[in-house]
Amino acid sequence: MIPPIARRFIAGTTADSALDHVRAQNDAGITCLMNKLGEHYHDQQPAREDTQAYQELIKTLAQEDVGASVSVKPSQIGLFIDEETFSTNFANIVETAAAHDIRVWLDMEDHTTTDATIQAYRDNVSTYEEIGICLQANLKRTSSDIQTLAETNGWIRLVKGAYSEPDDIAFSSTEKIDTQYKELLDMLFESYDGRIAAGTHDPAMIEYVHELHETYDRSFQHQMLMGVRMDRQRELAQDYDVAQYVPYGPEWMAYFYRRLREKKENLLFGLRAVLTG
Ligand SMILES: Cc1cc2nc3c(=O)[nH]c(=O)nc-3n(C[C@H](O)[C@H](O)[C@H](O)COP(=O)(O)OP(=O)(O)OC[C@H]3O[C@@H](n4cnc5c(N)ncnc54)[C@H](O)[C@@H]3O)c2cc1C
Repeated sequence: MIPPIARRFIAGTTADSALDHVRAQNDAGITCLMNKLGEHYHDQQPAREDTQAYQELIKTLAQEDVGASVSVKPSQIGLFIDEETFSTNFANIVETAAAHDIRVWLDMEDHTTTDATIQAYRDNVSTYEEIGICLQANLKRTSSDIQTLAETNGWIRLVKGAYSEPDDIAFSSTEKIDTQYKELLDMLFESYDGRIAAGTHDPAMIEYVHELHETYDRSFQHQMLMGVRMDRQRELAQDYDVAQYVPYGPEWMAYFYRRLREKKENLLFGLRAVLTG
């Protein structure tokens, strides 16, 4: 059972409760990226169970015509066990997704997982194009990854990056990451024929994406998290393609605390909810 203050960010502990939230977003013109919370598994069983859970979810999305894709963390389906387990589990998810015409996203975790995540994306996107991968603007390698992945036909979600990384491979200053984010957006709009997603809540980045969209006339998708700037999401959905990342599942605690720590706005929200019951 999720306490009321966490319900802003997490759509319940079950797929059914998350689907209720997703349907409500669909009614407001917003599609969703459903993520069953879970990461860093070192045993086969939870990795296999979550793989199967995603396969079941994909079938439900197709059968019930829900406007959503799935977004999977590599370490949730076996990357920290071994690359073969990850690759097999991901291929199984993609096979089910392809059979039901549902898009699959790969979230990106810390830099130790980047190569294997890109490899899994490459291995599968050649046979099923409705696959997306998240790339992080704080990593110095990302401009080169964007260049080499331009030959594939999948989707790219650009984010600033949520993990604290070593200085030799990553930018750490906010200003530098913001500049980098814009430069990488330039690259995406210059060299990708659509299939671009901007995963950000930052008003300056959102405005910049709109400018690029005007200049290049390329399609793109806004992606934002459940519970963050929800009014803005609904507003943007009047004119743009908006997808909301919707986490759910019994493993909600770590994700909730990460959200609270991330922003003063979220902390104030948590505090207000505790004080007002
Ligand atoms: C859909 C989605 C998927 C993601 N997937 C990944 C992933 O796979 N791997 C990964 O490393 N990271 C991922 N992230 C997280 C991302 O890397 C950033 O850590 C996170 O989005 C914060 O950066 P930002 O660009 O939103 O804004 P920030 O740089 O954190 O903030 C800039 C401005 O945005 C506004 N803002 C930001 N947050 C809030 C808030 N909570 N409430 C109100 N205003 C706010 C404020 O005006 C703020 O000043 C994802 C993010 C999204 C939205």
